[in-house]
Amino acid sequence: MSGILYVVPTPIGNLEDITLRALRILKECDFIACEDTRQSLKLLSRFEISKPLISFYSYNQRYRVGQITDKLSDGKKVVLISDAGTPGISDPGYILVKEAIEKGVKTEVLPGASAVITALVGSGLPTDGFVFCGFLKRKTGKMKKELAELINLEKTIVFYESPHRMLKTVETCLEVFGENAKICLARELTKKFEEFIRGTIKEVLEDIKNRNSFLGEFVVLIYPKSDTEKEID
Ligand code: SAM
Repeated sequence: MSGILYVVPTPIGNLEDITLRALRILKECDFIACEDTRQSLKLLSRFEISKPLISFYSYNQRYRVGQITDKLSDGKKVVLISDAGTPGISDPGYILVKEAIEKGVKTEVLPGASAVITALVGSGLPTDGFVFCGFLKRKTGKMKKELAELINLEKTIVFYESPHRMLKTVETCLEVFGENAKICLARELTKKFEEFIRGTIKEVLEDIKNRNSFLGEFVVLIYPKSDTEKEID
């Protein structure tokens, strides 16, 4: 009899953001596949959960998939978590879910914390349609091309970015979308220093240039048309 693969979101900062169902499934499973075992141990010990861990991160995931699907084929219940947020969203998960589906293993995905949705709703930008790009290409030319392909969409563009590349990335956004397009930098969501930096690209660029330090985790959101007054539900 086949087991079950559970994909379980974990908090993106505030440890209260884990569901009752997630905790029950973590307590009932046979194995937990996780990215950084030290990071996951901190979370699990906070909730007094002790289970065998299988390390599953970007560089070993292809090799580990077979081992995990063997356990699932043996009838085991395996939970996949990542360091923070929803597995599979700019985190390992896709390959395992795909393989489980192909092998006919039952897969249950729990809803829960993810920086992309939290940032989108808090941004004040249109939420009726959005394009999530994960992490953009790092080279400026390639990033510009990636963004330019989205310019005619009447949808909010969302991507993840690290603080040390932020200034250059916002400058690139200004070149692609113009200074009046609306942007929001959602910083340290659910944490002590949570902040939404909102404005036109020109205003937000000035703001971040004037800061001495610019730290934390960020989601960048842009609405490519200067008019955000859409009629939406
Ligand atoms: N799987 C995660 C999710 O569902 O959001 C994303 C993992 S990805 C490796 C990590 C990136 O997500 C960070 O570099 C940052 O851009 C974004 N992120 C994660 N937590 C965040 C937070 N609390 N505030 C803002 N951005 C966050």
